[in-house]
Amino acid sequence: MSTIRSVLAAALIGLAALPVSAEPKANQLFGAKNAPSRQESHPIGFYSKGCAAGNVELPETGPTWQAMRLSRNRNFGQPEMVQFLVDLSAYAARLPGWNGLYIGDISQPRGGPMTSGHASHQIGLDADIWMRPATNLRLSRSQRESISSIDVRSKDQRSVNGNWTPAHAALLERAASDSRVDRIFVTPPVKIALCQSAKRSDRKWLQKIRPYYGHNYHFHVRLKCPKGSAACRTQTPTVSEISNGGSGCDETLVWWVTDMLNPPKSAQPAKPAPKKRSPRDYTLADLPNQCRDVLASR
Ligand SMILES: [Zn+2]
Repeated sequence: MSTIRSVLAAALIGLAALPVSAEPKANQLFGAKNAPSRQESHPIGFYSKGCAAGNVELPETGPTWQAMRLSRNRNFGQPEMVQFLVDLSAYAARLPGWNGLYIGDISQPRGGPMTSGHASHQIGLDADIWMRPATNLRLSRSQRESISSIDVRSKDQRSVNGNWTPAHAALLERAASDSRVDRIFVTPPVKIALCQSAKRSDRKWLQKIRPYYGHNYHFHVRLKCPKGSAACRTQTPTVSEISNGGSGCDETLVWWVTDMLNPPKSAQPAKPAPKKRSPRDYTLADLPNQCRDVLASR
């Protein structure tokens, strides 16, 4: 064996002997940062595998919004996201029964994986918006911990319930029509309700409304990668999104009402999907290299 090879072999044995736990989890590292990195703003990586340079804070209270659950320290996002939320909240304030928006999680100060909750929300371009109309915009810190959002889904999960109003529909149409928005996740009954109430003449925005499990207490807005953000990975549209270009209304009814809530008796139980690695297990090595600079930055 040549010397180089034996040195290499020794190094490999040394590596193999290291305990797996020696590598800290990325969610611990990012969770420990209390302030954004002092860098130019840009999203890095993918919504569920990345981090955020130069995030800015959504002020805890504004003229038409309040950030909720402040103890989580997740009211940080890319400037495009914060501006979008300010804009949408100003629109919400004009809706009957609303004075603005209650805004849930955006990202941690430097984005990255989280110790609890979401798989995404990592690059400062995702935000959760409560279904509960923001009436009181003078909630205290502690009220913002204890107050809950409202459920807009019926008990049998087939439709929206009495909490759903035309103002919710108007808010979601406005958000989905915004060119900055890539997609919005909602509980399937919300998508079905929007399909029923949308004007026949303008249904293109419905394509951005994506039915998803959960999402009955809030909706989740995802922005596109802003122009010029080279390190941000745009979400690839699915084949059906490209070929259809439609509203997705029929597909939602089939998927939710037929396949999920009313599956044919003969249907075989689905094979359990191979377990994907959770973002909670990521180490820095799983994230784009630039995320090391985001952590190291002052
Ligand atoms: Zn979310």
